[in-house]
Amino acid sequence: MALIVQKFGGTSVGTVERIQQVAEKVKKFRENGDDIVVVVSAMSGETNRLIDLAKQVSDGQPVPRELDVMVSTGEQVTIALLAMALIQRGVPAISYTGNQVRILTDNAHTKARILQIDDARIRADLKAGRVVVVAGFQGVDEQGNITTLGRGGSDTTGVALAAALKADECQIYTDVDGVYTTDPRVVPRARRLEKITFEEMLEMASLGSKVLQIRSVEFAGKYNVPLRVLHSFQEGPGTLITLDEEESMEQPIISGIAFNRDEAKLTIRGVPDTPGVAFKILGPVSAANIEVDMIVQNVGHDNTTDFTFTVHRNEYANALKVLENTAREIGAGEVIGNTEIAKVSIVGVGMRSHAGVASRMFEALAKESINIQMISTSEIKVSVVIEEKYLELAVRALHTAFELDAPDRQAE
Ligand code: ASP
Ligand code: MG
Repeated sequence: MALIVQKFGGTSVGTVERIQQVAEKVKKFRENGDDIVVVVSAMSGETNRLIDLAKQVSDGQPVPRELDVMVSTGEQVTIALLAMALIQRGVPAISYTGNQVRILTDNAHTKARILQIDDARIRADLKAGRVVVVAGFQGVDEQGNITTLGRGGSDTTGVALAAALKADECQIYTDVDGVYTTDPRVVPRARRLEKITFEEMLEMASLGSKVLQIRSVEFAGKYNVPLRVLHSFQEGPGTLITLDEEESMEQPIISGIAFNRDEAKLTIRGVPDTPGVAFKILGPVSAANIEVDMIVQNVGHDNTTDFTFTVHRNEYANALKVLENTAREIGAGEVIGNTEIAKVSIVGVGMRSHAGVASRMFEALAKESINIQMISTSEIKVSVVIEEKYLELAVRALHTAFELDAPDRQAE
């Protein structure tokens, strides 16, 4: 008999019919003898609707404490509905809000972090044979204020509960049947991964593969909670996210290809090549709260150098302003920028034990005549910046070059 935490996202509980389907599914697990804790999101669209209401009475800037009081109601509706649907089916069940469980968080409203979970109540209910249904996305601070965990936070609730209860698995049910080698909309021959490590998943997630909230993956890695992504209404093994890196011959070197269109590039030319110049350029950028991603400083010549970095496309205009100021102050040359760029990354723990991975990537891009504008590497990732219009071509070429294409599906 296993203890399983199951999290169902907004689309999986988006209608009464779907909630009933979820209840049927949970009932089957229960009949197998497993202990089940279910975490649910608000019905799809509900959190957005609530935030929108709040904005209407707050000139677009709702007070965070009150916003949390309100948006947490979305999940309160779905826990009660699911518990009712279970009881209706003869499955003893009980629902709890974050406050009732006591999911203790810090007081950072709208982006709180979980500090501690009291598992006593849940354990007692499980022992009494009940399915426990817990509201995702919410907690309570020391003072009893309702808090929420940031968009997509129900994933983190699921993982945190699984860690606290030492569950055998945390299952994340969603509208895709697992984690893919890349976005199937870009590469029709993308494959579902059987397994991926926490580390790789973290890279994939932070690079824009939106299956899981990043914080939930960090949490799962930290507490070694086996995490499985599954389709809510289709059968299948999904994708298991775990700690172990199996060293097997068939294991591909690259697990996936992530990409991100939301980037912009800025270059400041003719920067005096003196100590402290990187700080002079990036200091004001970070003071303006603009996050910098990739950074390249060229080798200097004639005592000047070019300095390039990327930011989120939303921050481009701000960054440009800051940089033009800096250029004037330090006597640099012109500032140029480009918002039509994209970042493509290959991700895989196999890189640690294989040489030549980066050059294989560059070769594949060269064959398609795609110019690489910037490169950055980490232990398990190589990223390049290219012109946005070549993004899909690049992803497809890399997917093929690293032998990730599904053999059994027709390329469309
Ligand atoms: N309902 C929240 C949101 O839409 C939390 C979640 O679904 O995970 O972000
Ligand atoms: Mg989600």
